[in-house]
Amino acid sequence: MDFNKRNKYNLRCSFCGRDKTEALILVAGIDAHICEVCVEQAQDIIDDELGKKQLSQGDFDIPDALTPRDIKGHLDKYVIGQDEAKRYLSVAVHNHYKRLEQPVGDDDIEIEKSNVLLVGRTGTGKTLLAKTIAKFLNVPFAIVDATVFTEAGYVGEDVESILSRLLQVSDYNVELAERGIVYIDEIDKIARKQDNPSITRDVSGEGVQQAMLKMLEGTEVHVPPQGGRKHPEQKLVKVNTSNILFVCGGAFDGVEKLIAKRVNTHVIGFKTVDEGEEIDRDHLLQYITQQDIKSFGIIPELIGRLPVLTYLEPLDYDALKRILTEPKNALIKQYEKLFQLEGIKLNVTDGAIKFIAEKAIDFKLGARGLRSICEAIMTDAMFELPGQKDVKEFTVDKDYAEAKLSKSKLTKLKAA
Ligand code: ADP
Repeated sequence: MDFNKRNKYNLRCSFCGRDKTEALILVAGIDAHICEVCVEQAQDIIDDELGKKQLSQGDFDIPDALTPRDIKGHLDKYVIGQDEAKRYLSVAVHNHYKRLEQPVGDDDIEIEKSNVLLVGRTGTGKTLLAKTIAKFLNVPFAIVDATVFTEAGYVGEDVESILSRLLQVSDYNVELAERGIVYIDEIDKIARKQDNPSITRDVSGEGVQQAMLKMLEGTEVHVPPQGGRKHPEQKLVKVNTSNILFVCGGAFDGVEKLIAKRVNTHVIGFKTVDEGEEIDRDHLLQYITQQDIKSFGIIPELIGRLPVLTYLEPLDYDALKRILTEPKNALIKQYEKLFQLEGIKLNVTDGAIKFIAEKAIDFKLGARGLRSICEAIMTDAMFELPGQKDVKEFTVDKDYAEAKLSKSKLTKLKAA
């Protein structure tokens, strides 16, 4: 029996078998039908494949006309607030790729790399900024965590394996990887430990910083393609890091105290605070300088290789509210889409949004908290509603949100 034409009134998606009553839309072809879910899946596959092809063709030169303003404009669509960091990062990225276009030996002026250091609490958008830029420029992007590295010869990963990740996402195309962006998270965790007893070596602090120096500056690094330790059986791949942009991020817990100490002792130091200017003690990060990073325990040589230093503000109530609804892939939009795929229209009221933002402030997890709170609120509905054919609309208001959250494990988080 012809599966698709069994019965005029019993049409099905020829890809997933979904029945007309279960699908929102069933598009008819000559001899088949396709539902909206399969269309979206097919689109994802096409995007993925085309994206990969573009990458492997090395087709990622940024157009000449792409100004820092354009880059920031793109970031604005995905990242809320953080204007200062966006401006610095846009300029750094613009200059970095301008530098790549520069013919060698034109004159004696060689533009130096502008690796970036982002300082800001967890969940304020550091990784998101780096990821969004890489996606926009269509260059390979890898995230690595500085805490897994130790000095060569000790337990842990060699610093070179930072580049293994980049090679992997570039499908082992070295040329591509050499133009990518690497985000090194938790760079503050490899700060020199001041109270380190002299008999034990600081294998995960200063030693790692030393090992990173050359890589950040630009050199040929022998990379174990599978990551991890340099096993003798692993054939090493030579990667030149001169054109890789490194963005480092860290919370630098306690750096505000160092800043406060500095601005108190010499208020007019090094263009940090203008003479007579009132110091905004609630937002000390804006005064951060390389000097504070050094006092924190990062060696001057490494600081020198991260010439662009900027900060991210802690997210306040208004920012959290906007994060829920405004960015292109905002959390609430994602839930709306999930429900829509079940054929249900989801309404989240203003009251509920305000409530979620307030709770995220209480939990002190930055924007990371939003996701867990939303999951706690939505899980019951996401479990129960699919399959209930008579439910076409579902509303989450403040009372509903409060009731669901109060019975979740998350509330214990606050008590802790
Ligand atoms: P971190 O600063 O710790 O690197 P992330 O960038 O990983 O934080 O942020 C965690 C999540 O929180 C992101 O995936 C994103 O959904 C959200 N988020 C954080 N900051 C922002 C922001 N400023 N604008 C929009 N979303 C944000």
